[in-house]
Amino acid sequence: MAGPPFRNGAPHAPGESVPPSIAGALARLGLSTAVLDRDHLRSLGTASSWGTPELQYRDYLHDGLGPGWHLDRPRFDRMLRAAAVAAGAVLVRDRWSSARRTAEGWSLTCHGTRLTADVVVDATGRRAAFGTAQGARRCFADRLVGIAATVPDPDARRHVILESAENGWWYASPQPSGRLTLALLSDADLVRREGWARPPGWLAALRETRHLALPPDEPSLTVRDARSHLLTPSAGRGWIAAGDAAMALDPLSSAGVTLAIESGLAVADLIASGHVDSIRHRQQLRRRFDAYLRQRRDVYRAEQRWDSPFWTRRHEGAVEARHLVLR
Ligand SMILES: Cc1cc2nc3c(=O)[nH]c(=O)nc-3n(C[C@H](O)[C@H](O)[C@H](O)COP(=O)(O)OP(=O)(O)OC[C@H]3O[C@@H](n4cnc5c(N)ncnc54)[C@H](O)[C@@H]3O)c2cc1C
Repeated sequence: MAGPPFRNGAPHAPGESVPPSIAGALARLGLSTAVLDRDHLRSLGTASSWGTPELQYRDYLHDGLGPGWHLDRPRFDRMLRAAAVAAGAVLVRDRWSSARRTAEGWSLTCHGTRLTADVVVDATGRRAAFGTAQGARRCFADRLVGIAATVPDPDARRHVILESAENGWWYASPQPSGRLTLALLSDADLVRREGWARPPGWLAALRETRHLALPPDEPSLTVRDARSHLLTPSAGRGWIAAGDAAMALDPLSSAGVTLAIESGLAVADLIASGHVDSIRHRQQLRRRFDAYLRQRRDVYRAEQRWDSPFWTRRHEGAVEARHLVLR
């Protein structure tokens, strides 16, 4: 499980959906879901063929939770950046190229721009670029990758479709543009073995599904790291990780964006209270990751139709971070 199994494709596959709980996270940032209705597409819920060949519908509105949304993710990120700037943040677009600890805090270089900071928040996503540069390591729970294409959507859907397969699972997520993101999730070694990161292999796997249609043209595929990980430690002297950098979950949860916002809010509270490198926070994060691993195993155990490496790994895998190897 060493190193990213594949080079990342586009930083974000365009098709990401968020559950109704995004409303609470946005409200804490002082933002309303009216912007989501304006620029994104309402999501009615999920329809999944998981443990059974038929699609089972779960409608958010029936659950009384309000709608979810299919995001135009670059647009959503632009909205969050604009809100941060409106609240007084200064936006520096470059990546940091060096960071040095000084008596006062940090001295950082962003391609020529010199910055000083009391605290650095590592929000660099699954790479956890700052934390790992400070010596933190990630424990990975799997080798999951997502191979996605954006294709025409003849059905103009509003539900996310999930369909399990012999060595992985698929999702189809509508986009506000009227197109559809189709993605296969499987382990990096299986993807390599089966050639699923190339159009002929990916299309052959798609042909095996029951509920997803083949695109009219050869798809252009992007490959994304989708491994679950916990950064250890998730904070140090004058730095702290937030979002995927601290803890990244299986995309099956559709919770990554919401949890990243909530994690950023929790980190802001820690900074404000002067407890950046708090043992309690680190322990909380570890307990949450352990709880997530148990929940993930239960969800995967609900699918018992295949006795293949992908499912066996998830049915029998470790459910405590201390049993995972640090990389
Ligand atoms: C295949 C797949 C499908 C997914 N589907 C969903 C979904 O439907 N719903 C959902 O809620 N979540 C989904 N997720 C998860 C979701 O994408 C993440 O949880 C979420 O983006 C985490 O946000 P973040 O801000 O922590 O990290 P990111 O969104 O990854 O943002 C990190 C940012 O840091 C920048 N960066 C990286 N390195 C540096 C550096 N050295 N210097 C400066 N900047 C840097 C990157 O360019 C990027 O802009 C999915 C993930 C995958 C892999």
